[in-house]
Amino acid sequence: MTRIFNDPADFADEALAGFCDAHSGLVRRVEGGAVRRSRPAMPKVAVITGGGSGHYPAFAGIIGPGFADGAVVGNIFTSPSAQQAYSVAKAANSGAGVVFTYGNYAGDVMNFGMASERLTAEGIPTENVLVTDDIASASPSQAEKRRGIAGDFVVFKVMGAAAEAGLDLDSVVRLGRKANSLTKTIGTAFSGCTFPGADQPLFRLPEGQMGLGLGIHGEPGLFDTELPSAVELGKELVRRVLAETPSSTSKRLAVILNGLGSTKHEELFVLWRTIAPLLREAGYTLVMPEVGELVTSLDMAGASLTLTWLDEELEQYWTAPALTPAYRRGAGGFDVPTSTATEAELEAVTAAEYSSTENSRSYAAQCLKALDTTAALLRTSEAMLGDMDAIAGDGDHGRGMVRGSAAAQHAASLAFERGAGAGSLLAAAGDAWADKAGGTSGVLWGAGLRAFGERLGDAETPTPDVLAESVRAFADRIASLGKAEIGDKTMMDALLPFASSLEEHVASGTHLEQAWLAAAADATSAAASTAGLRPLKGRARPLAEKSLGTPDPGATSLAMVFAAVGPHFTAVPVPAAASN
Ligand code: ADP
Ligand code: MG
Repeated sequence: MTRIFNDPADFADEALAGFCDAHSGLVRRVEGGAVRRSRPAMPKVAVITGGGSGHYPAFAGIIGPGFADGAVVGNIFTSPSAQQAYSVAKAANSGAGVVFTYGNYAGDVMNFGMASERLTAEGIPTENVLVTDDIASASPSQAEKRRGIAGDFVVFKVMGAAAEAGLDLDSVVRLGRKANSLTKTIGTAFSGCTFPGADQPLFRLPEGQMGLGLGIHGEPGLFDTELPSAVELGKELVRRVLAETPSSTSKRLAVILNGLGSTKHEELFVLWRTIAPLLREAGYTLVMPEVGELVTSLDMAGASLTLTWLDEELEQYWTAPALTPAYRRGAGGFDVPTSTATEAELEAVTAAEYSSTENSRSYAAQCLKALDTTAALLRTSEAMLGDMDAIAGDGDHGRGMVRGSAAAQHAASLAFERGAGAGSLLAAAGDAWADKAGGTSGVLWGAGLRAFGERLGDAETPTPDVLAESVRAFADRIASLGKAEIGDKTMMDALLPFASSLEEHVASGTHLEQAWLAAAADATSAAASTAGLRPLKGRARPLAEKSLGTPDPGATSLAMVFAAVGPHFTAVPVPAAASN
């Protein structure tokens, strides 16, 4: 339960503001997140972590000498946008390149990936190191699909120390990937966590039960079982992680026994009392183990055990000093900055200028209405979509769609006032959707809407062919970013049938309004049929069985929106000159 908040929608922002104020000697708030207060005297690789909020001290709590240079801070449990990642990287870059490092979640992968493309195009070498330590989220043969949980901490620590020591970008990335490949975690949850302002937890476990294999976004465990004694729990966690012992012969381990948010340190120590001797009996030396809260999940009760098999260089960087708001280790060597460094010049966001034709302007007015309808529809569907996503995902789909569509509607009306044509209006709406929605679906909708607008252009009222091609551009962009195929149980399962059906009906000469109606009916039934599929992409994938019987939330919302906007997109616009 979160008791201290104002408007729940502002919670993450307000927490970041308070954090940056309280630790103003170490961190500085920038657009999209926070960076170190002092710029390095010499160029060094900028290690930038990030992800959704709700995981403190991950991710902003570990900004500082010996650790991260910056953190990109998304909304609660939702990926920050590509724009945020770009802006934090620009502020943290000191001339030796940037590495984004984060847990493996589709939204983060896409947003950090898009920011990397943009930074690289500007001549800033940028790399990505994904953390995939959660052994419960995929089998060893699919280790690259695993989620990142508390193992984040070890991987970030190693990279931060290596960058501080002056290693170049390639070396920092190599060490990060090595640390990740030798880091394994198993987690367990005893109770769900609750979003600020929500009156229900994201999920519940019956009293006396635990969910083994939880994710840090409250994704339910892989299976539920009777809550064992501390000794039995310790044995179970050790047994499961040691079963993943890598072929390396290292007998030295970095160990993290992590609390998920509302498990007391004393409980963790009771658990440690079992875990540490078991590891020692297995022949291991425990190197600077950490028992505490390092990667949390709001107020979730639970714990996770992380082991990293250390070689010489990993141990050197694991044990190196660090001085950050939430984490300090042997930090005598660092000067605590006392003066405030000059604020770096952040790029001014220049207002776009539009040139559009009268025809496109009148169609732009209809596009704006389509976005009004979308935002209104999603507001009334928020709870339904959230519940659907909570079954096998993380419950945020409704919230993300509401935030995204509201931002899109707002940006579109500003663009309209400034004279945007239809294409520019939808592109601006897409950028705002991607920036504000968070989550996988937000990135995809945002990028798709921009592609739709780019195909539409600002010159003409679209013909049926052009409209069908714009829908296809929307689908192509989402396919190329998300790489999901038909049958993977994603929004593509509604979108591709819509695009094909519209093309076919338009090609056979069906009246546009009827063609759109028919395509929307196909998308709606395709979305309903996803109930029979197991998800192969996205956050619901690890819980594929739980998802059976429920339609995919992203496919459902897509079909609803496309059905609702039909009348706006297909009405023949009245040219402004002839409108009265
Ligand atoms: P998140 O998964 O980040 O919490 P949302 O809950 O807002 O984001 O959206 C979930 C929806 O996103 C899923 O129901 C699915 O339709 C869609 N989705 C997830 N991954 C992909 C992908 N790779 N390609 C297309 N759609 C995807
Ligand atoms: Mg979700």
